[in-house]
Amino acid sequence: MRRAVCPGSFDPVTNGHLDIVGRASRLFDEVIIGVLINQSKTGLFTIEERIEMLGEATASYENVRVASFHGLLVDFCRDQGAAVVIKGLRAVSDFDYELQMAQMNIGLSGVETLFMPTNPLYSFLSSSLVKDVVKWGGDASAYVPDFVGERLGTRLKQT
Ligand code: ADP
Repeated sequence: MRRAVCPGSFDPVTNGHLDIVGRASRLFDEVIIGVLINQSKTGLFTIEERIEMLGEATASYENVRVASFHGLLVDFCRDQGAAVVIKGLRAVSDFDYELQMAQMNIGLSGVETLFMPTNPLYSFLSSSLVKDVVKWGGDASAYVPDFVGERLGTRLKQT
């Protein structure tokens, strides 16, 4: 079985993430979304909330599942039996760091990284930007699923 991992923070999931996951799901037998647990960074949503939202947003894809991990991505890939990491590239600015990580990961364990060009509709989109837009009352409905927009609105009112 050919498995790929799509790693990230997903705080929260955006349509940019979903575009990459959906395209990856057509290329691989199974896609595992890996939610990174970063102990030094508290997000807006807990890891459990992010996993729940990702599960709901990808419910229509039969070959996509969601898991969390901490530590090295290559160890997570090994545990999941995945030989490939999929990364979306939004702009040239993403490339420098992504290239370093891809080269480190292949050196560490032989895990390959495949880069997918972002859908131009989402090339400027990040979870942080969406949080800012919603925080200041902007309309993010084109950038996140409706239920994510609602949860963002509720959460940001509480902060
Ligand atoms: P961000 O907070 O910038 O959205 P994440 O860590 O949640 O970052 O993103 C995880 C991965 O998803 C990124 O490494 C990138 O490969 C991909 N990604 C994020 N946003 C987009 C987007 N708008 N278009 C394509 N890929 C994206």
